Amino acid sequence: MTSALTLSGGCQCGAVRFRMHGQPKDVSVCHCRMCQKAFGAYYAPLVAVGDAEVSWTRGQPKHFASSNFVKRGFCGDCGTPLTYEAPDGLSLAAGAFDDPSQLPPTVQFGVECKLAFVDAIPALPECATLDDLEDAPFLTDVVSYQHPDRDTDQWPEAKS
Ligand SMILES: [Zn+2]
Ligand SMILES: [Zn+2]
Repeated sequence: MTSALTLSGGCQCGAVRFRMHGQPKDVSVCHCRMCQKAFGAYYAPLVAVGDAEVSWTRGQPKHFASSNFVKRGFCGDCGTPLTYEAPDGLSLAAGAFDDPSQLPPTVQFGVECKLAFVDAIPALPECATLDDLEDAPFLTDVVSYQHPDRDTDQWPEAKS
């Protein structure tokens, strides 16, 4: 990875925003059962921040202690998973960054819990969102309430 990264991110509704400055320790996916549950997903993409600096630039995550050692941070308004906080450091949810393409994973953890079909997903049939128009005609009229993939001075943005 390159040096002197500054990357922003936050939850879906925009109530909680963060910034990471510096080089993270690693980017992983974790297949463990706790990460599956906490993310509602087959695995969790996590950025172990290491010595990088993290600041909460809007709001703060709420926490659930998923064990005696680990807290999981999430947006109390919209529920987006945001952190994994363990004695060995803080990790941020990679998909919550504004540009997750900057943070490709380099290692898998918790592989003893890996769901058998996960490795077959890339071979499944592929559909773009708008390929579904016949079954979901509302898609052409969608108005997103998701926070944009950049910092905002004010959110929701003032309407003029
Ligand atoms: Zn939120
Ligand atoms: Zn895990």
